[in-house]
Amino acid sequence: MAFLKIEHLEKSFGTTRVVKDFDLEIEKGEFISLLGPSGCGKTTVLRMVAGFETPSTGAIIIDGKDVVALRPSQRNIGMVFQAYALFPNLTVGENVAFGLKIKGIGKDEREARVQEMLAMIGLPDLSSRYPFQLSGGQQQRVALARALAVQPQVLLLDEPLSALDAKIRVSLRTQIREIQRELGITTLFVTHDQEEALSISDRIVVMNGGVAEQVGAPFEIYNRPSTRFVAQFVGTLNLIEADVIEPASGTVRIGTTEISLGRPLYPGRVTLACRPEAVSLGAAEGRSLVLHAEIGEVHFLGAVIRVQARTGRTSLSLDTFNRPDTPPPAAGDRVQVSISPADLLVLEA
Ligand code: ATP
Repeated sequence: MAFLKIEHLEKSFGTTRVVKDFDLEIEKGEFISLLGPSGCGKTTVLRMVAGFETPSTGAIIIDGKDVVALRPSQRNIGMVFQAYALFPNLTVGENVAFGLKIKGIGKDEREARVQEMLAMIGLPDLSSRYPFQLSGGQQQRVALARALAVQPQVLLLDEPLSALDAKIRVSLRTQIREIQRELGITTLFVTHDQEEALSISDRIVVMNGGVAEQVGAPFEIYNRPSTRFVAQFVGTLNLIEADVIEPASGTVRIGTTEISLGRPLYPGRVTLACRPEAVSLGAAEGRSLVLHAEIGEVHFLGAVIRVQARTGRTSLSLDTFNRPDTPPPAAGDRVQVSISPADLLVLEA
């Protein structure tokens, strides 16, 4: 049985339903991200699990027990917020010890646990500092240590990295994941950053308008999005309009080019979609959709070069790997681009 089970969860503020029939089952030790645009209800779901918000209907079951009627302090949950939320008048050590003190844990054990937690987050020597003497990244690590010190059953992270600069964000997310794995703690992580969700999650819940649109492993969400929203929200997507000219064989016309997708389609117009890495420069062997294009913007990103290629009324993003001995394409170059039909998703209308 799932360790954390959310069933038919709903939340309305006034007459607005912001979480709708939300179901989720999380195994013990899983790292799950709630991903979605601003206002889609991610934080509201998290706050209901934490007990800061009461569901309009639905159940939240942790380790077999419905916790909806329990206060936050009775739920055995650790939470880290976006803003560091450390107690400014307490030292790092006192912050980490705070929950232990409330639980009535004796001084010696408290101190041992604080040392253990600070060592775990890589800040063993900062116990007597105050929050204002720490960097943002250090403060968030202390917040994590404080949340974990009480050995919660579930860890809730509400955009804990979004106030940090890019480099720290990446290193801290790796550290959070390492600690989470080491402790085997069941974790629910809220983010609107798709790269962040893809990089650290066991599974992702993509939310839109209060609804869980798709739940799946990062590979699945990225490569097999089940709705147009998921396809467009997660990663960059090229959209190509096509006319179906032979539904049975799935033959479509794009501009003046015809190809068979090898799967039946409904008659009419379809939108085909593909990722930038599925588009190759040149008429690659074995690829049957070849289009003439003109290079537009070229963004040199380091390992990868992101190129815009205009073909007919469509602008395609394509990724090509940097090779030190080959200069990147330049704006205005006339090229061919090719896409394997197998890499084309057909999006429903
Ligand atoms: P963000 O990434 O911007 O934090 P989110 O996906 O976490 O967005 P929520 O904070 O869960 O979204 O909010 C979902 C919706 O519910 C929003 O439209 C928000 O304005 C609304 N909302 C949240 N809390 C309240 C509240 N206490 N009273 C009224 N409306 C609220």
